This record gives sequence, structure tokens and C-alpha cells, in this order.
Amino acid sequence: MIRAFVYWVNHIESSQTPGIRFVDQLLQLIHCYEQDIALPWQDYTEVLGEWTTPAFCVETDGAFEMLDGLNKVVRGASSTGLNVFDHTFTQALVAMIRVSEERGIVECSPICRACDLFAVCGGAHYLERYGPENGYRNPSKYCGDMQVLIRWFAAFYQRGILLA
Ligand code: SF4
Repeated sequence: MIRAFVYWVNHIESSQTPGIRFVDQLLQLIHCYEQDIALPWQDYTEVLGEWTTPAFCVETDGAFEMLDGLNKVVRGASSTGLNVFDHTFTQALVAMIRVSEERGIVECSPICRACDLFAVCGGAHYLERYGPENGYRNPSKYCGDMQVLIRWFAAFYQRGILLA
């Protein structure tokens, strides 16, 4: 990832440099953290940062479902019990937030809450931190990689090489 980032930086002035959403958000979060400002809500994704973007989808049978990936860790975990025929999108959003809280999906590990990188990492994606014992209250299985990556990007940012 770091090698890819170095290539990306070295070609940043080139029109051939593609936007990389993950890198863009990582740099934005580091910038906001360093400047003590909030990231605009529309720039949040479900992958990084303290706050996740609520998102759901409409299945072909009309059911409002949370992200499919949840079913990989717990069968039926993406279900909201609502559908487009009987409920509005606003109801689906409220249900999704309630269900996320009830199932502990929004919870993070105490280890992450105490981590100095939490404002940027946010404990990582919930699918990366699920475990049978503590549910979603675990550090990411990519924790070590995230630490290296964020510290490396932050050092880059602090040297003024990149301005988000
Ligand atoms: S996953 Fe690791 S790097 Fe991320 S907040 Fe948790 S302890 Fe910190």
C-alpha cells in the first residue's frame, strides 16, 4: 500500500493519477485531526473515521437491508424487517440506526477508544473487527497495518509534502 502511495504522490501532478477514495479520506482525516476541524459529513465513508455513513440497500424483493457484508459474519444481520411497499426511506434509515445499535454494530473496542489513531482509523470497518467472543468490540484484524499506514501518511502530511 505504501509503495502504491509513493507512486501516487510522485505522479500527483499528472492527469494519469487516479483518485483513490481510501487514500483521499485517510489524508482528509489526518488533515482534520491535525487542524482540529471536523470532516464534512458528506465525506465520511463506512471504512474510516470515528463516524460511519449510514447506508442501506433495497433488495430485489423490496426489502430494506443493511450492507450485505454483515451476513458474512452473522446470518440475517443485515435485515431491518422493513420494505419499500410498507415503509418510507426515512423509516428505513431510523430502523437501520436502531438495529445497528441493538446488534452492537456501532460499538468499538475499548482498545480502539484509547488508541491515539482512533480519530482517523475509527477502529476500522465493522466486518474487520467481528469476533465470536466480543462481537464487533475488537480492534481491526488489520490493526497493525492500519497503525503503520496512518503513521506513515501522517509523517508525510506533517512534512508538508501533502496538503489535503
Ligand atoms: S484498529 Fe488498531 S489502529 Fe485502529 S483504532 Fe483500533 S487499535 Fe487503533
